[in-house]
Amino acid sequence: MPDAPSPDLSPFDAVVIGAGAAGLFCAGQAGQLGVKVLLVDHAEKVAEKIRISGGGRCNFTNRDLDPRAPHKHFLGDNPHFCRSALARYTPADFLALVQKHGIPFHEKHKGQLFGDESSDDFIRMLLAECEAGGVTHWQPCSVSAIAHDGEGYTLQTSRGAVRTRAVVIATGGLSIPKIGATDFGHRIAQQFGLRVVAPRPALVPLTFDGAAWAPFAQLAGLALPVRIETGTKKERVAFDEDLLFTHRGLSGPAVLQISSYWKEGTPLRIDLAPGQDLAGELLAAKARGSRKLIANELAQWVPSRLADAWVQQDAAWQRPVNEASDKALQQLAARLSAWELVPTGSEGYRKAEVTAGGVDTRELSSQTLEATKQPRLYFIGEVVDVTGWLGGYNFQWAWASGHACAQALAASLVSRENAP
Ligand SMILES: Cc1cc2nc3c(=O)[nH]c(=O)nc-3n(C[C@H](O)[C@H](O)[C@H](O)COP(=O)(O)OP(=O)(O)OC[C@H]3O[C@@H](n4cnc5c(N)ncnc54)[C@H](O)[C@@H]3O)c2cc1C
Repeated sequence: MPDAPSPDLSPFDAVVIGAGAAGLFCAGQAGQLGVKVLLVDHAEKVAEKIRISGGGRCNFTNRDLDPRAPHKHFLGDNPHFCRSALARYTPADFLALVQKHGIPFHEKHKGQLFGDESSDDFIRMLLAECEAGGVTHWQPCSVSAIAHDGEGYTLQTSRGAVRTRAVVIATGGLSIPKIGATDFGHRIAQQFGLRVVAPRPALVPLTFDGAAWAPFAQLAGLALPVRIETGTKKERVAFDEDLLFTHRGLSGPAVLQISSYWKEGTPLRIDLAPGQDLAGELLAAKARGSRKLIANELAQWVPSRLADAWVQQDAAWQRPVNEASDKALQQLAARLSAWELVPTGSEGYRKAEVTAGGVDTRELSSQTLEATKQPRLYFIGEVVDVTGWLGGYNFQWAWASGHACAQALAASLVSRENAP
């Protein structure tokens, strides 16, 4: 039988549900501000997503984040919602904490900060912060029901009933269910009458129809720098990043980034040789009388595996340059520079790094992350309709929203005399 503390014996100021990035950080900060915090998570292991993040090294923040212009790196129904929390807890603030704990780190491209050694360093740091805040941590512990009365909340958990004055939902999004992701946060929001923006996988590889993809499936494993875009006019979004061919479609940073903006049924446009005047180069080669096969000439500007596969699409491209018509060379160059293709779908939550959508930001205070119509119920991290770009932005949102919530918990729950 699990321990079943009576509700009266467990008077926590706040229960944080979800010991991932946002929940751990919020619990530690709130605890250090004098809030009596219980942190619960249904998984066996703590912060599994931090562990697998950034290829095991955790891309923990991004120096390029501009809190005054969050729409540059975040999406959601209201991309300005995150401004307040991001401005009050910046990448520099989190970096200072990382340095205080002596964790070595380095910068990769585009402002991305990674640990030098292991993501475990960050998990240890967050657990140490919780310990410093006197946080009680129950794991594994699931929560089956949350009820509100005038005084606070009663939670039914696998370790018994718990009484608390405030509840923080930090249960994340739906991606990677095999390591503990659930729709718990969305269900709790709905229970309390809060709207949820339809969730969808984001930062996710895109897939293509099997037959149409067959000529490109042989390129699986090939990576190259591209310019990729989707949408038109005001909705046009473009990224200059690496693209990776897979057996079922496309991945790599370029595709993960664009997937967050891509709408089903619409095309992607990809320049496979960005910055190159391919038509000009091929026509110049023809003018020089080059007898090289077109694929071999092309291999100066794109990977030879791509050049070989690409020319298979048209018999007019499978000949020496000097025997090809100008039109054929121009068409080949145009197709490579503006490859238009419509994904049939994505690899889904199984492979998505994040979930777009979530608790509607119109239901929350941007200062405190508290539900406007439900006192002392807070939502932080990925469960909220705030989605960052690839590159450390999602963790920075987890830290910043956790910090804003911790400040609010302390302001509302800790009397001046008891504050540390
Ligand atoms: C493979 C991968 C790599 C990533 N790499 C990066 C990166 O390098 N940089 C970056 O910024 N972002 C990265 N992300 C995204 C980042 O991990 C998330 O945005 C971030 O972890 C969200 O924090 P969170 O605390 O809101 O949710 P999570 O970290 O997902 O934590 C949610 C917690 O809630 C628990 N939980 C869920 N349901 C319940 C329930 N019913 N009861 C109790 N507990 C529950 C879960 O077990 C989990 O511990 C990556 C994601 C993936 C999948």
